[in-house]
Amino acid sequence: MSEMLERSARIIDGRERLAMNGLYGASGTPAAEVGDGVALVEAFSNVVAFRTDAGLALFDVSHELFAPDARARLRGWCDDRVDTVVYTHGHVDHVTGAGVFDAEATERKSGAIRFVAHEAVPDRFDRYVLTNGYNGVINMRQFRLPEPRFPSEFRRPDDVYRDQLTLDVGGTELALHHARGETDDHTWAWVPQHRAICVGDLFIWQFPNAGNPQKVQRYAWDWAVALRAMAALEPELLLPAHGAAVGGAALVQTVLIDTARALESLHEQVLALMNAGARLDDVVHTVRLPDDLAAKPYLQPTYDEPEFVVRNIWRLYGGWYDGNPAHLKPAPETTVAAELAQLAGGATRLAARAEEVASDGDLRVACELVEMAAQAAPDSPGVHAIRAAIYEARRDAERSFMATGIYRSAAMDSRDRVDQLGTPDAQADATS
Ligand SMILES: [Zn+2]
Repeated sequence: MSEMLERSARIIDGRERLAMNGLYGASGTPAAEVGDGVALVEAFSNVVAFRTDAGLALFDVSHELFAPDARARLRGWCDDRVDTVVYTHGHVDHVTGAGVFDAEATERKSGAIRFVAHEAVPDRFDRYVLTNGYNGVINMRQFRLPEPRFPSEFRRPDDVYRDQLTLDVGGTELALHHARGETDDHTWAWVPQHRAICVGDLFIWQFPNAGNPQKVQRYAWDWAVALRAMAALEPELLLPAHGAAVGGAALVQTVLIDTARALESLHEQVLALMNAGARLDDVVHTVRLPDDLAAKPYLQPTYDEPEFVVRNIWRLYGGWYDGNPAHLKPAPETTVAAELAQLAGGATRLAARAEEVASDGDLRVACELVEMAAQAAPDSPGVHAIRAAIYEARRDAERSFMATGIYRSAAMDSRDRVDQLGTPDAQADATS
């Protein structure tokens, strides 16, 4: 068994801790041969390769920043021409490396590569052009980039399909299946010769990314259905788009079924509360992942988290109205904040109370209070200094990449405000 499969087995059964969150493969490590003629290049995202009589069939081409390195490592394993690329979905870390492989094919005169994807992938690319600025801003927060940046040109698929498509690439059968899950345009594939499944982002070594607070709708239930359909094929090799491959029928079943159960549990709990007329606030604060699943090393909330998935399930089935009538046509937040600050005896008092609550350990309430203080007194460096400290504490207390990215960015905004406005002491001196 390959070293990669041994490592993933140790992580699944708890003998080894998963480093970081499984998202970043070490650059410079060679492609891992995880089956006869099957390789996985760990990168952000991975490139999965099958050797066929017509050349290589690839699943995903990584991000443009990582693709040159991923290509070189793939070439260390096999130098055959690339015949076909399947996009598992249209997220930029999976598709923007296409130019690197197209350029290689042109340079080698090895024939054009055929790109295949679900029919919603081109629609996604169109949406990315429409929302380029928004995506730049949210990715800056989520991925800690120095400035907003998002691509606006994409290598479109040559062929698309709707429900299922079976490709024969040089004698190797790739049975593509559409599933909504992390995205509306996901493809997972069954490769019978290798008893392998290519899962894209439907298994990521962390809690499923079905909740991302800044992105479009995700589909927890469909995701679980897809995982169970994969499990029914009794695959012996699981090839994800992030993190290591999993080998052995029993381990593959375990991770597929546990991930499905986690999504099914959240889905069932949310729907039960919605059907009973609960408000979103009750749903968010009531639904919990069962303890046995929450303890699984491959379901840790280090990227996305169950609370965000709960909100996405609500959004899928409900409206945007959260059940609180005050939120239907609300007053501007700044007006409400000013009212509350006045009641409290000023924004500074509100911020001071936020500090107390934070030091007592309730960062959820502390953030609510300090946010109102900053909205009531947007030009107060003292309030912003407290706001920055509270969001830094919140960032440190949270586990998911998405929550920490947003809290980090809020803290940085207030640190910048303090810099612009002068230190709290200097301003107090000037006004005294
Ligand atoms: Zn991904």
